[in-house]
Amino acid sequence: MSLISENLEKIRLQIPDTVRLVAVSKTMPAENIAEVYAAGQRHFGENKVQELAAKYELLPKDIQWHFIGHLQTNKVKYIAPFVQLIESVDSLKLLIEIHRQAVKANRKIKCLLQFHIAEEETKFGLDKEEAIVLIEQMRQHNLDHVLICGVMGMATFTEDVVQVTKEFRYLSSLFFELKSDYFKHDSLFSEISMGMSGDYLIAIKEGSTNVRIGSNIFGLRNVR
Ligand SMILES: *Cc1c(COP(=O)(O)O)cnc(C)c1O
Repeated sequence: MSLISENLEKIRLQIPDTVRLVAVSKTMPAENIAEVYAAGQRHFGENKVQELAAKYELLPKDIQWHFIGHLQTNKVKYIAPFVQLIESVDSLKLLIEIHRQAVKANRKIKCLLQFHIAEEETKFGLDKEEAIVLIEQMRQHNLDHVLICGVMGMATFTEDVVQVTKEFRYLSSLFFELKSDYFKHDSLFSEISMGMSGDYLIAIKEGSTNVRIGSNIFGLRNVR
């Protein structure tokens, strides 16, 4: 068994059946993805549109591709025909374009609302107030080809377990609050996407339904 397959096996044993594993394959060549695919993995995550579109062409069509990076509105059209879940939605402008491209592709596209939960400064991700405004605006626009399935977030990059726990716990609480206020009778709103290579065990304890793991499967990346 290769190192990649061994890594995958190890992680699978740690993750309960109720938690989905997304293998984050950004920067990795198609051959490495094919190897993980051969071991039965079907959900993969990418954060660049061009790279994802190229890999989609090369690899088996039953792969479920998650888009996990910053998505520019003018690039939605390249992934709309096939993407399984866009995990990184944080604006109305983007939702309107996803809806528009989903209509064109004659499908409905699942999305998660990305939250800013870490201490690090970044321009991406919503806070609670922004999310509420976004959900209300979205309803006025009647974006019925967009399916909001839950929340996503990244914790601070730190060894501090207390800090990371606090941030994941906060994202979970946001999920339940939005669920009861806006998605009570919507069974699709069910996902809490949190946890990466350094913190997925904490994320699972705090209620993650979807962990996104890259380097612990594929090895260290040079960049990103
Ligand atoms: C790169 C990335 C991951 C995976 O990171 P690892 O630390 O390699 O597991 C998860 N989520 C997002 C949004 C990413 O960009």
